[in-house]
Amino acid sequence: MRTPTDLHADIGEVLLEEGQIQARIRELGAQISTDYAGRRLTLVSVLKGSLPFMADLMRAISLPLRIDLMEVSSYGGATTESSGLVRILKDLSSSIEGEEVLICEDIIDTGLTLNYLIRYLGGKKPASLRICTLLDKPARRLVEIPVDYTGFTIPDQFVVGYGLDYDELYRNLRFVGVLRPEVYTTPE
Ligand code: 5GP
Repeated sequence: MRTPTDLHADIGEVLLEEGQIQARIRELGAQISTDYAGRRLTLVSVLKGSLPFMADLMRAISLPLRIDLMEVSSYGGATTESSGLVRILKDLSSSIEGEEVLICEDIIDTGLTLNYLIRYLGGKKPASLRICTLLDKPARRLVEIPVDYTGFTIPDQFVVGYGLDYDELYRNLRFVGVLRPEVYTTPE
């Protein structure tokens, strides 16, 4: 496996700066706080990519809330294409029956992962089930997804950073950027 020596040097273009991301999350948090005022909110994050987003979003919401975590896999290792296969690696730890659930996603691409999750979580009879995604790449959508809150709509490029990985790396970058194509085309 190729191990980069300088994470920043592998980024061709910064798409979203740290300040832009944080400012948008504050707006989303304020909107969600208004919309869910007086209700019992549960945020469900989808690991691992949504971890920074969930951590920042929950602190931008001023209401009492619960969190739960799921982990699913949709991409197999070092590839930038969706397999269309969704596997649950970690399930919820508490019941969401009768709860107001807001799914926090890092990015919606084909929509296959969320399509599966909506059906799966919907089967657990929450009072409501809505979706908040930091990034939306509508160009490659294969199934229609009712997105309630969107951070940014981005072009059809494979992005990394702020939770998003390539081959499990780059998640710890504070910004969202596009990898140089050499990173995933250069043989080891
Ligand atoms: P979908 O099922 O909507 O095609 O893909 C959802 C998942 O694929 C995301 O949660 C994320 O893990 C991964 N994904 C989709 N687009 C990108 C991208 O541009 N960069 C990275 N790093 N992951 C992506």
